[in-house]
Amino acid sequence: MPPHVDPTPSGVVFETDTQTADLGLDKDVSVLKNATPRKYEYVWFNIFWFLFLHIGSLYAIYLGLTSAKWQTNVFAFVVHLMCATGIGAGSHRLWTHRSFKARTPLRILLMIWQTMGFQDSIFEWARDHRTHHKYADTDADPHNAERGLFYSHMGWLCVKKLPEVVEGGRRLDLSDLYADPVVMFQRKHYLKIMPILCFVLPTVIPVYFWNETWLNAFFIPTILRYTCGINVVWSVNSFAHKFGYRPYDKSLNPRENLAVWMICVEGFHNYHHTFPWDYRATEHPILNMLTPTIMFIEAMAKIGQAYDLKAVTPEIIKQRAQRTGDGTHHLWGWDDPEFTEKLKSRYSVVYNAEKKTA
Ligand SMILES: [Zn+2]
Ligand SMILES: [Zn+2]
Repeated sequence: MPPHVDPTPSGVVFETDTQTADLGLDKDVSVLKNATPRKYEYVWFNIFWFLFLHIGSLYAIYLGLTSAKWQTNVFAFVVHLMCATGIGAGSHRLWTHRSFKARTPLRILLMIWQTMGFQDSIFEWARDHRTHHKYADTDADPHNAERGLFYSHMGWLCVKKLPEVVEGGRRLDLSDLYADPVVMFQRKHYLKIMPILCFVLPTVIPVYFWNETWLNAFFIPTILRYTCGINVVWSVNSFAHKFGYRPYDKSLNPRENLAVWMICVEGFHNYHHTFPWDYRATEHPILNMLTPTIMFIEAMAKIGQAYDLKAVTPEIIKQRAQRTGDGTHHLWGWDDPEFTEKLKSRYSVVYNAEKKTA
């Protein structure tokens, strides 16, 4: 008998989905979290591909430290930043969440960088990511964190999509993606342009311009850079859904994780799932300034390529944090009156505590 397919929304994608004055859903979504036992169908091609990528990356690190030219290592990092921006600012904040608008030249640039990152076409990426937000932590979430850390990191790509995920994706409104000629062009020609941008050019450029060896050029800016790129996005789906505080909505799995942010430049995930249409990574201006994706969007806004940048007001953020947060919002320190004894015992440990004398 086929599994029961009936996904119920447990999250919001756009501000138009919200039902309360502080931009949430009008129900307790924590009861919707589930991961019903399934018999997985393995996708062996992906499993062997990921094995090759990770073993190849270890070899690439060895080559990078022992025989590569410095230009090759710098080039790998620059290509990584371009891909991260194409995915972070492009397929994520622009096309999935419509958190800002972009003129055609910027959309074309982001499409090229997104293609270099090879994480599916913009259309597929945005559809899957909208499904992730709309049905977060349920059977219809493509990388449901309720199925465990490995599943939400990369396990979900090693097995066939569950029917609930397919059904969840079908229920979404994707008309804006169909209406964008840049998205549709990339989707139509994806299998022709992706191999050139992701694998051929990053290998040929170091050999042609600074006489790097084919071996170094293939393994460092191509295999290692690509493997880092996918792990960065996967880490947000796994670690930032498992470890950290939930100052904005404690009913959601996504958390604020500074370590994930420092490595992946995206990790304030409780904020992001609470207000996904906000173009910023967080409400804190300094942390936004240090986030390359946000810096890029703001720089593009200055030259008129990005416009209609959406952000949630501080009042709504505070109101929401007080109603649904875990109590860790804006604590100024240990003696903040909001840092109650209950929160202290839950979130902190006191080392070398002063001994009380009777
Ligand atoms: Zn997420
Ligand atoms: Zn998102």
